[in-house]
Amino acid sequence: MKPAAFSYHRARDVDGASELLSQLGGDAKLVAGGQSLVPMMNFRLARPRHLVDIARLDELSHITPDGAGLRIGALTTHHTVETAKARLGGGFAVLSDAMSWVGHVPIRSMGTVGGSLAHADATAEWCLLAVLLDATVTVRGPDRAERTIDAADLFLGFYTTTVEPDEILTEVIFPRPAPHAALTEFAQRHGDFATVAAAVDLDLDGGTVRGGRVALGGVAPVPVRVSAAEEVLRRGGPAGPELFAECATAAASAIDPPADADGSAEYRTNLARTLVTRACEEAAHR
Ligand SMILES: Cc1cc2nc3c(=O)[nH]c(=O)nc-3n(C[C@H](O)[C@H](O)[C@H](O)COP(=O)(O)OP(=O)(O)OC[C@H]3O[C@@H](n4cnc5c(N)ncnc54)[C@H](O)[C@@H]3O)c2cc1C
Repeated sequence: MKPAAFSYHRARDVDGASELLSQLGGDAKLVAGGQSLVPMMNFRLARPRHLVDIARLDELSHITPDGAGLRIGALTTHHTVETAKARLGGGFAVLSDAMSWVGHVPIRSMGTVGGSLAHADATAEWCLLAVLLDATVTVRGPDRAERTIDAADLFLGFYTTTVEPDEILTEVIFPRPAPHAALTEFAQRHGDFATVAAAVDLDLDGGTVRGGRVALGGVAPVPVRVSAAEEVLRRGGPAGPELFAECATAAASAIDPPADADGSAEYRTNLARTLVTRACEEAAHR
């Protein structure tokens, strides 16, 4: 399969990429790792007339500690994060571990963190992690205008974000460590996008849960935080099967997932319950 004809432009730096996007107008698209855009072009689901290649902008490829938090450049590959676990330390190990769920090694070696967030698949691991851990993204637009967007405000719907067509997502900032966080999922085949994904970040005090965050992917057009499940964690209690089952049941009761070829709404609800329980257990054992 071949894409429709397009012209190719290589950006020399972020501002140059932004200028190109402004000049070329609405028919231009950025390409980073190409692992989502190129298949879509091959299937003619996307037909940009111009591609602006940012893959060689080294300034956007970094993992940088920032106080207690972490900044990850948009062009950092999934594989780079996956293999940086020792450097990231326990506080951000969840990011490295979650990468094993993203496609296969060749995809992880090319695909980028910023590309995943901008592509906004409802089950993408980076989107789920950003929502779970209260991340913010930085975007740069024309005239070097920079703004930040909370992950909670980033995703509008299927494959749609609040990043404007002439803006470039430059980095994602995780504001605090999450030593007791875990992401797990179920996919039809290893390496496929998840049918449902669950992520949990527990506030643990010894063996006692004092609060936490719960996020689900694949149950709505965007990744969602589940406040009913978080309320169970806020009430707290011993980190064990009883509390985790209650949290998972609250999560399953709060969602109204879509049905498609991968599963009915009921199937997805049951998956969510199982996966939230599993994510709680994994998070507690970190
Ligand atoms: C077989 C297969 C399996 C996969 N499985 C998974 C999976 O399980 N989980 C998962 O999350 N992903 C999966 N992916 C997708 C993969 O993770 C992609 O790498 C990712 O979705 C997009 O990153 P990219 O750098 O390749 O972006 P690209 O394909 O280059 O771009 C994707 C979109 O983002 C835009 N974009 C890219 N970078 C920026 C930027 N810095 N600022 C603004 N817009 C930008 C582009 O214009 C385009 O619209 C899979 C892909 C394949 C082919």
